[in-house]
Amino acid sequence: MSTRTPFVGGNWKMNTRLESGRSLAREVVAGCDGVADVEVAIFPPVAYILPIAGVLGKTDSRILLGAQDCSSEPDGAFTGEVSAGQLADCGVSVVIIGHSERRHVIGEDDDLINRKVRAGLGEGLTCMLCVGETLSQREAGETDAINEAQLRRGLEGVGPGEVERLIIAYEPVWAIGTGRTATPEDAQDAHAKIRGVLADLFSGDAAAAIRILYGGSVKPSNAAELFAQPDIDGGLIGGASLNAQDFLAIIDAARGIKKGGGGA
Ligand code: PEP
Repeated sequence: MSTRTPFVGGNWKMNTRLESGRSLAREVVAGCDGVADVEVAIFPPVAYILPIAGVLGKTDSRILLGAQDCSSEPDGAFTGEVSAGQLADCGVSVVIIGHSERRHVIGEDDDLINRKVRAGLGEGLTCMLCVGETLSQREAGETDAINEAQLRRGLEGVGPGEVERLIIAYEPVWAIGTGRTATPEDAQDAHAKIRGVLADLFSGDAAAAIRILYGGSVKPSNAAELFAQPDIDGGLIGGASLNAQDFLAIIDAARGIKKGGGGA
């Protein structure tokens, strides 16, 4: 039976400046000393990936360096874009793809997101595919259908050998940055359905091994009850990851939640 090591990621979005980012990274590194039972990643703005890599590289920290997005293309005339291979060269090992702000603010569609997933996996990165419904879709009872469509289209063409480098983040759009959080029961229900789709796409064993994170206003006060759910394997944290004490408290809530088998 597979076991899933919990994962907590800090998505800094377009926040921090060079020095505040470095000092936040130092605080996270110091606070994670001795934490071996949770995989922790930080996702700084792309401009600061190399300086933050420098902070992580100066310690024996096991904190992973992440990127918030990558290009769907390997190289060429794509002004302003950054390829997965370039990120890998800078020490990035995990990339967020299809975050709701990229879907709904920047306007990315499932086809582009799928090409980014395949580009990231092709360069050896772990890809964290974000899925989730808007408020109107939730109110129309479409949560599971939206998640399923985003998974099926986002993961098209992903080979069995690449599945171990997939992470899914379920992030209901209405909960991101709003202070509103899905109830643990609603989040668990969505996660279990997502794991079912993954089982259908790949295999029951593969689905049981894939981490499915919850994201959407996770805070120290609600992390433990969310992470206690059988199919929630940690979180993708936005606002609370900008405060080291809050982020570390959320990481602490993920300790000891390693789960096996899953709900597939
Ligand atoms: C996110 O950015 O993925 C996120 C979940 O943000 P927040 O925690 O601020 O809702």
